Amino acid sequence: MQSQLSIRNISKIFKTGDGVKNISLEIAKGEMVTLLGPSGCGKTTVLRSIGGFLEPDSGDILIRGNSILQLPPEKRPTAMVFQSYNLWPHMTVYENLAFGLKIRKYTKADMEREVKAALEMVQLGSAASKHPTQLSGGQQQRVALARALLLKPDVLLLDEPFSALDAKLRMEMREELRDIQMATDMTMVFVTHDQEEALSISDRIVVMHGGQIEQLSTPQDIYDTPQSLFVANFIGRINVLKGVSDGQHITVGGLRLPNPKLELPIGHCIVAVRPEDMYLSEQEEGLTGHIRQVMVLGHYAEVSVNYEEEVLKVFVPRQQAATLHPGQPISLMFSKMNVFPEISVSEADK
Ligand code: ATP
Repeated sequence: MQSQLSIRNISKIFKTGDGVKNISLEIAKGEMVTLLGPSGCGKTTVLRSIGGFLEPDSGDILIRGNSILQLPPEKRPTAMVFQSYNLWPHMTVYENLAFGLKIRKYTKADMEREVKAALEMVQLGSAASKHPTQLSGGQQQRVALARALLLKPDVLLLDEPFSALDAKLRMEMREELRDIQMATDMTMVFVTHDQEEALSISDRIVVMHGGQIEQLSTPQDIYDTPQSLFVANFIGRINVLKGVSDGQHITVGGLRLPNPKLELPIGHCIVAVRPEDMYLSEQEEGLTGHIRQVMVLGHYAEVSVNYEEEVLKVFVPRQQAATLHPGQPISLMFSKMNVFPEISVSEADK
């Protein structure tokens, strides 16, 4: 099947030597794909290249099979929502939305119908006559989203659209955006450095690092099976331990577990375990240490454990936390883990 958006081997290197290298990506119609990574990894450079605000040095970008690289931003079948809303303050909400349709020569009746529908979609049906300054940040971002949606772009680009909003509103907007995206079957490319945001709204996530794609997969797969220590560390919480592989098994402290990655070289390796995959045990064959701290965080508690030179984190049910106290000797067990070659430690620090 033809992709809605094809990014073929694009590179863009700035004079400083930073930029993105050999990015390739196929996105299907109706997919929500998130570009995720730390500051400076190249997310915005990719997004701006799709929108036409930056020209890649090499490679091609196609929408529904046609190259868009020669088209200026306003001629591309894309629309962009920015972090800073970019609304015109002297125009009403209605005028902000109608502007793009006027250029496209819509009749007044069509324009009114489309603007009304778009405002209702973002739950701002009654705000048409207001000016942006009379609206909250969240409402202004809804207007910016409505303005982009009513252009019915083949691909909607969103550049950290919710990062100026407070945490609660950000979560609400995320859910609303995902509802709209699924209801309209619109293809969206969303840039964020917030891993929780990416995990919660995406069909697929592109984890970027140092201008390249580090992993491209579903949120579940990226969380459960990170392909590198960088991804394991960047997405969610993880404990990193030293282990030894003899081929079939991995030994960590007093634990000997089946090796989940048989292609791993024999010898020293890195073992990464999520806090929710560890549990506390009375038996002594696990990783023996002492409880350092117990923090109740709602329905679960985060327990810090001193183990050799490391502090390991374990999530336990709230009820269990009440029985634990600092200084208590404890043994840690786990059966689910990811393993990486030892070299990944220095790679992940890059
Ligand atoms: P952030 O979340 O901070 O926006 P990002 O992942 O979106 O980060 P980009 O903005 O794509 O990263 O930048 C990638 C790299 O290219 C960075 O090192 C950045 O400093 C550099 N860069 C971006 N734009 C330019 C430019 N116009 N001139 C020179 N260097 C640039």
